[in-house]
Amino acid sequence: MKNSVPVVKNENYIIDIQSLGYEGEGIGKIDNFTVFVKGALEGEKVEAKIIKVNKNFAFGKLINIIRPSKYREEPVCKIYNRCGGCQLQHLNYKAQLNFKRKRVEDCIERIGKLKINKNKSAAEHDIPEKEEISLDRYDYNDGIVVHNTIGMEKPYRYRNKVQLPVGTIRDEFVVGFYSPRSHDIIDMEECYIQHEVGDKVVAIIKQWLKKYNIPIYDEKTGAGLVRHIMVRKAFKTEETMIVLVTSKENIPHEEEFINLMSKNIDGLVSIVQNINTKNTNVILGLKCKTLWGKSDIVDNIGDFKFNISPLSFFQVNPVQTEILYNKALEYANLQGNEIVFDAYCGTGTISLFLSQKAKKVYGVEIIPEAIENAKINAKQNDIDNVEFMVGDAEKVIPEIINSGVKADVVIVDPPRKGCEKSLLEAMAKMNPEKIVYVSCDPGTLARDLSILDNLGYKTLEVQPVDMFPMTGHVECVVRIVKK
Ligand code: SAH
Repeated sequence: MKNSVPVVKNENYIIDIQSLGYEGEGIGKIDNFTVFVKGALEGEKVEAKIIKVNKNFAFGKLINIIRPSKYREEPVCKIYNRCGGCQLQHLNYKAQLNFKRKRVEDCIERIGKLKINKNKSAAEHDIPEKEEISLDRYDYNDGIVVHNTIGMEKPYRYRNKVQLPVGTIRDEFVVGFYSPRSHDIIDMEECYIQHEVGDKVVAIIKQWLKKYNIPIYDEKTGAGLVRHIMVRKAFKTEETMIVLVTSKENIPHEEEFINLMSKNIDGLVSIVQNINTKNTNVILGLKCKTLWGKSDIVDNIGDFKFNISPLSFFQVNPVQTEILYNKALEYANLQGNEIVFDAYCGTGTISLFLSQKAKKVYGVEIIPEAIENAKINAKQNDIDNVEFMVGDAEKVIPEIINSGVKADVVIVDPPRKGCEKSLLEAMAKMNPEKIVYVSCDPGTLARDLSILDNLGYKTLEVQPVDMFPMTGHVECVVRIVKK
């Protein structure tokens, strides 16, 4: 039988890059055989060396760009080519936004098998600052409108959370992201997608490690102490928290660590030790010990105040979060007398946002600690028309419906795997007028929109919001109505 793999490992090939993959990698074909080339852009002609061959695809290493894309840019970060922290710095920002919208459209068409309204969806590379949105733009039969991705005016320095492994390379202390698909730490001094305070903490912790020769945790043997460093910065209140993740209780030269940090870090209000004794990829353990200052920090989104503990989930891009939540509120279009369900509510952020305009909001979430936080957040903001419940949304929501509660609007914001079919069916049974779907994965979103379509719910419009500039991730808010 003829061998259908047309490429040979370690050989160089000329490839036309036709599209970008989910992690920003270039995708091209050699005799109809797919080759992924990291660092290559759509529209480029490149020379690549084949480094790995699988049955249906191969990976190539970028050797030379023969014809560069007009959207190619010089990355601002000097370790960009080695670090795995972000993937799209070499692509013009507006082109990134366009790539993300196209990816959403592509998923809706190919996975969801739903029709896109091409006339009203955004024109290629034509990214206006702001789009006017009104309901009368839509003709239900023309298909789904996918808007331009809402980007950031300043797409760098946006993350409020820095979380980095600590290690040693040839007796030097290093702190940085892992290189892609490995556990090799790429030492960093500056990370442009994170708040500046992160750079400062990294520099100071390296000084401390070196001066006192602090033992570093070894993933292979389980010996050593320091595992990760985490920094959280509240953008609005400017409060800063530092979390030192260790494998054991006792920290040598703890006082020096506290002194160095408290003297040098602006806005520092909390230093916490997190103890993770397990040999896993999960960064944080369950035990937290406050070493200095408070145990939590406070930040605001819109008019609301949120308590953030080392372990709680909090959106990492506070500027875009406000845009995302306001879009969810706009799509819910509440009049004040509605019963709203917020499935997958986390610490209740969206629930509180919606409570301003609803009669009552029910929030459901699987992690008990998140619900504890949600209740505190509601109380702190003097909100009494929300009720939070711990449990699996797929089980709790049908139970609530069976007890006779009716929902006018349902919001879902599931993790990347999307919603279980049983939850979508339960939602449809509740017969809400509107559903708002907040998604961090366009693939599972498209699958779920198609299921909802079969259950009598029509998708009108999709608004991608760029929560993670310079990376391949895309977040969407979707307006869905009963047919
Ligand atoms: N809406 C929140 C959180 C979104 S993250 C915010 O914007 O901050 C998704 C949340 O879904 C997580 O908090 C996760 O713990 C929760 N979750 C995951 N599976 C769940 C399930 N089956 N039922 C309920 N909640 C679930």
